[in-house]
Amino acid sequence: MDGSGLDLTNKIRSKVLASLSFALLIAAISFAIFNIVYHQAYAFAALELIFAAFSFDVFWNNSRKNNYSVNKLYFYLLFLAFLIVFGTYSFPLIDALFVWAFSFPIISYLLLGKRLAFRVSLFVFISIGLILFYKLTFLREFDIEPVMINFLFCYTCIWTVSHYYELSRASAHDSLIKLAHSDSLTKTNNRLAFSEGFNDHQGEYLLLLDLDHFKSINDTYGHDIGDLVLVSVANCFKTLIDESQVFRIGGEEFCIWLGTSDLEGALEHSEKIRRSVAQQSIECDEQKISITVSGGLAQHQPQMLQSELLKMADNRLYCAKSHGRNLIVHKDEMEVSNLVLVN
Ligand code: GH3
Ligand code: MG
Ligand code: MG
Repeated sequence: MDGSGLDLTNKIRSKVLASLSFALLIAAISFAIFNIVYHQAYAFAALELIFAAFSFDVFWNNSRKNNYSVNKLYFYLLFLAFLIVFGTYSFPLIDALFVWAFSFPIISYLLLGKRLAFRVSLFVFISIGLILFYKLTFLREFDIEPVMINFLFCYTCIWTVSHYYELSRASAHDSLIKLAHSDSLTKTNNRLAFSEGFNDHQGEYLLLLDLDHFKSINDTYGHDIGDLVLVSVANCFKTLIDESQVFRIGGEEFCIWLGTSDLEGALEHSEKIRRSVAQQSIECDEQKISITVSGGLAQHQPQMLQSELLKMADNRLYCAKSHGRNLIVHKDEMEVSNLVLVN
């Protein structure tokens, strides 16, 4: 499994954008024709046609190439906001163009996220509010109180709900992403997290670790105690290396990015980790359990695939196992014939 299925925010935005941009394309062309035929409002109709072209561009790029930037969408919604504000100012209130304002908080929070959506919603709220106030006070098209009160309350209700909905959606999304990238037992990062961050570690040394004779721990003390040992070893790694660099990639196998491209430094870190695990005594039900780890060390060289690096580290790990365990090996089996081992 890769992590591409987890980008729910972009999926939702893309779907909303597809239907919205298409609906706005049709609406803008229809209103432009209406404004030319019935109102002879050529300037406004020209703006609507430009907006229709923009809608087409957004629709096309989104549905065909799946390609749009948040900044472009921000500009798109500001253009729409400007049309509504300008229309509300230019046409009589009886045309009810200001009703469009109520859609802005919903659309902008769905498409832009809370920071930019707040700005768009505020812009529309203030501009439409001021125009309504001006027209109702000086032009007296309607009674001011009911229209203003209904506008203010209705808009703030929709705005508040949209804002809190987006806050909880974003936080639920973040929790889901965190959950998908962490191992439920040891709370370290998992294999998916390792795969996703793999290319950020070019040049760095990777230490692949496997617990020695772990099956016998399960057999002797039971699976639950085996779990506690795994947690305890993972915690030991986390005290020595930043936890963002520690991954559980299989049952009792871990990977650690050592944050260095220098072999001496990598060996020193690896040894420290190996020694710390061997020295710790895990207390479970008044019993003291000792465990050791074996490791294969390999460098992430340019253009290397994840499978290639893991294979290289795994071969060295295998070599450490076959030479007695509780070892770190940084060379291939052939080169280790003279036991170039750190112990
Ligand atoms: P070696 O030194 O060669 O690695 O020997 P080993 O016994 O560690 O290796 P082996 O592959 O034979 O056994 C690994 C064991 O790890 C078997 C499996 O039941 C156990 N294991 C895998 N995942 C978990 C887990 O989440 N919890 C527990 N308790 N055991 C696990
Ligand atoms: Mg194993
Ligand atoms: Mg093992």
